[in-house]
Amino acid sequence: MSKYWSPLTASLVPYVPGDQPKDKSYIKLNTNENPYPPSSKVLTAIAEAANSDLRLYPDPTCDTLVQEAARYYGLSPKQTFVGNGSDEILAFAFAAFFDPAKPVLFADITYSFYKVYAQMYSLRPKLIPLDEDFNIPLHQFEGDHGGIIIPNPNAPTAKLLPLSDIVTLLERNQERVVIIDEAYIDFGGESAVKLIDQYPNLLVVQTLSKSRSLAGLRVGFAFGSEELIQGLDRIKNSFNSYTMDRLALPGAVAALQDEEHFQAITEKVIRTRDRVTDQLLELGFKVTDSKANFVFITHQTLAAKEMFLLLREKGVLVRYFASPRIDNYLRVSIGTDEEMDVFIAALKEVICELTK
Ligand SMILES: *Cc1c(COP(=O)(O)O)cnc(C)c1O
Repeated sequence: MSKYWSPLTASLVPYVPGDQPKDKSYIKLNTNENPYPPSSKVLTAIAEAANSDLRLYPDPTCDTLVQEAARYYGLSPKQTFVGNGSDEILAFAFAAFFDPAKPVLFADITYSFYKVYAQMYSLRPKLIPLDEDFNIPLHQFEGDHGGIIIPNPNAPTAKLLPLSDIVTLLERNQERVVIIDEAYIDFGGESAVKLIDQYPNLLVVQTLSKSRSLAGLRVGFAFGSEELIQGLDRIKNSFNSYTMDRLALPGAVAALQDEEHFQAITEKVIRTRDRVTDQLLELGFKVTDSKANFVFITHQTLAAKEMFLLLREKGVLVRYFASPRIDNYLRVSIGTDEEMDVFIAALKEVICELTK
């Protein structure tokens, strides 16, 4: 607390990102980073852009990247927005579209940043409880509300909604913006981008952080009708004209152009995820049906928090949330096959220690 803080600052409960510890080297399976390097074409593009032009401001409308992202998804540049990571775009979208006079709907178990943004903009969240198996009760996402946001696949449950459910949601909520946060869609889902021409209230948000292995570059996208993109531009240009820097812009273009690298690393993550899922089942875990680059697991007899702490001692970091309903679960990012072998070996030791 400080007397210099505004009432807003004093009241905030900021988002807590996963640990990035510096005390020793860990196998990091706690922040859903991609274990593989980004495309070498990205590194070349960034190296070429690291020149004396850095004295100049970047392109405020990010035309080249907007065109490339629009081309990639078969949309028009007017339906495309780029931002400094999808978190920033989500923050803009909450401000641009959600009505503070009405409840904003999202799941009780979901990406914890949504609550923070709601607080930032004095929105009133209405948390919709997931069912016992962490399914999203679609019929509760309707009525008189100020907007909807759903990650697909959901985080941290990793569960995917089929596109037909997204259509149902859009059909029932045509008066309000529905945001689909597709941070993990490339690991086994079908993007809602193809619905944008039909539903002017749909905003699809994506990121290069997970499936393109570029969490450090900070690049995200939003796709939607022209009126929604104009809304995002209004907020962005009331905040910072230059959210995208001169290195990120060409790096992101190169990432979208290297489809082969993207496909190769995505397939590897999916293959490893499915293999690790089978091993976890054999060790007595319940594993949700993951379509993301992480698994969400709970053990039939052992406590998640104890496993989390013991794994950490052994140099393996996973994510533990001390939150209602999920405080006996671990979220484990999918690393390389070698990293996951170390994880499984450490986990077997932990299980031995806790059951002896
Ligand atoms: C990782 C993640 C993001 C943020 O991605 P950035 O583009 O790195 O800001 C957004 N939404 C969800 C659900 C995520 O897991």
